[in-house]
Amino acid sequence: MDFKTLLDKQDFDIEDIVRLLDCNPAEEALLFAKADEVRLANVGNGVYGRALIELTNYCKKDCYYCGIRKSNKSVERYMLDFEQVKYAIHLASDSGIGSMAIQSGELSSPEFTDFVIRILNYAKSIDPNLGITLSCGEQSPETYKKWFDAGAERYLLRIEVSDEETYYNFHPNNELHSFQNRLSCLQSIRDAGFQTGTGVMIGLPGQTVESLAKDVVFMRDFNIHMCGMGPFIPCNGTPMENAKSPFEDLVGMSLRMIAVMRIVMKDINIVASTAMETIHPQGRSRAIQAGANVVMPNVNPLEHRKKYKLYEKIPTGIIDSVDSLINAAYAPIPEGYHLILNQKGTAPHYLKEHLI
Ligand code: SAH
Repeated sequence: MDFKTLLDKQDFDIEDIVRLLDCNPAEEALLFAKADEVRLANVGNGVYGRALIELTNYCKKDCYYCGIRKSNKSVERYMLDFEQVKYAIHLASDSGIGSMAIQSGELSSPEFTDFVIRILNYAKSIDPNLGITLSCGEQSPETYKKWFDAGAERYLLRIEVSDEETYYNFHPNNELHSFQNRLSCLQSIRDAGFQTGTGVMIGLPGQTVESLAKDVVFMRDFNIHMCGMGPFIPCNGTPMENAKSPFEDLVGMSLRMIAVMRIVMKDINIVASTAMETIHPQGRSRAIQAGANVVMPNVNPLEHRKKYKLYEKIPTGIIDSVDSLINAAYAPIPEGYHLILNQKGTAPHYLKEHLI
């Protein structure tokens, strides 16, 4: 089958996806054009913005790739206080960006659960239309439900690596890092009613085009509503600080993963991640052109942003006003696309599932 015919298929098996990911430069141009066509037909040329705060870098886990892993003693730990979070909520609300995302290291104390509830209650009290995404790791089904009931509507929990055996090359093999638990958390997130997001890192040692194709199939079969993927970037002070990407062209492979996800899942939300920008100066713009439709400008106070170091990253500009937030959201958006304001930015994939 020629590449163009392959792109027009409605159902893709693993071999098809391998071929899409493993394409030559001429085919890659066709792949990106197809992804853009699918994107325009299903989610249009708008891009949703989420104001991102990184609530805390305290973490009880020890994932080998992550800069804020528990064993990394060189990290100065912080927890934003309520006033700092309030400031970010007002910024997000006043800007009309439509939604915010709260990410954190993994904590499961009742105090932390309640702190998140307090934040959600406050956000909903000042702006019931502000969409809120949480990305605070593995929690109990009860906690997910409490957070959903307090007004969070989306949850992002990356599976990171969708193959159980390979998962333990990147995580300690113990109860706190159980693949099966991560899977059941994803299910609990969906069961709680959240718009459910997951994703993987691209460029992990030992990864192959076949394993990435399986990741795509995993996300499709789980029928996710949102996808957040990005390149793996080594972080000093972690067991993987010297790890090398198995892909010579990591930027290209990351973009092809985005394009394939858009073609396979059509109407989900896909993030143009900050990690993309770290490995290429126009990484997020190119991600948008390859099918991504969400950007997440970071509104954390600068001193904390430096401490939330998952990987070696380039510092981004200060966001301390409505104008600077809107400018930061617009910055990566290429010609032909625009920032959508005053909407929560729910993926059509979720709307269709819940309105029919
Ligand atoms: N504790 C939360 C949020 C984790 S940080 C959770 O477990 O879901 C968000 C994401 O950053 C992770 O899911 C992981 O995919 C990514 N990440 C961590 N370390 C990274 C690295 N070195 N390079 C690229 N991405 C990384």
